[in-house]
Amino acid sequence: MFTIQKISSKPKTILSVLLILFIGLNAFCQNNSYKIYALKFATLNFKMPVSFSAVGSTSKDSTGICYMVYLLKGNNGRTILVDAGFTETPTMYNMQAFTYIRPDSILKKININPTDITDLIITHPHWDHIGGIDLFPKAMVWMQEKDYNYFVGTAWQKDGDNSGFNSKDVYKIIQKKIDKQLTLVKGDSIEIIPGIRVFIGSRHTYESQYVLVGTGSDKVIIASDNTWLYYNLTSLLSIPITFDQKAFIENLKRMKSMVKNIDLIIPGHDPLVFSKFPKVAEGVVKIKN
Ligand SMILES: [Zn+2]
Repeated sequence: MFTIQKISSKPKTILSVLLILFIGLNAFCQNNSYKIYALKFATLNFKMPVSFSAVGSTSKDSTGICYMVYLLKGNNGRTILVDAGFTETPTMYNMQAFTYIRPDSILKKININPTDITDLIITHPHWDHIGGIDLFPKAMVWMQEKDYNYFVGTAWQKDGDNSGFNSKDVYKIIQKKIDKQLTLVKGDSIEIIPGIRVFIGSRHTYESQYVLVGTGSDKVIIASDNTWLYYNLTSLLSIPITFDQKAFIENLKRMKSMVKNIDLIIPGHDPLVFSKFPKVAEGVVKIKN
């Protein structure tokens, strides 16, 4: 049964309204809170000069290169993976070059099953970020529309650029579309899931995107390859693979303006991620509780 009590005075009305607002706001915040993890499923078996990852760098240092997926565990029933990793290498890369565990296996270290993944945000369709999409059968895949169109179309035409793409992944994403498990995102600063907002990135691919999680002082950016290393952010130097190096640098600045601490801009391939945050399992760190 539902009854409405007569409200007898104005102050009481104001108090009631404030209380309802507070409860509503509180519920909204609680519903959109995410624990954030980075999971390293592959590591290159040799180091690379830092200068290979930053155009114009004079650094003599070397760095390890790792490959990650990122898990956003919401208390609203959403279990979101950012990027899908890879299950094989395209012909120009050798699987022997990597220490590797399949992306769905690394998730088991924090008790996440592949069927638990409700959403899969693909930052860009390079082989090492999209190849694992068929491991997560229940996930709705989210990708920028222009990136998708380039990936399945223009890239394979005469003047297209399909470097970094595995043609087998084109079939996988089209299968997702046929299965009605693909949502194409159109544009910048779009809240695709409560508390999860995507931004158009650096033109690493035709229309790569990155993910902002949280609000207020609580924000974390899952940058993926919109910066390969923390070094790109501190030196403001572009990675070599982009349609537009100037746009890449502008976007590094933009991401830095969006969070209070650059440690909270999580790069696509930097092993430092695994020393900056607390380890919760082998190859897994917790970025936010
Ligand atoms: Zn990439």
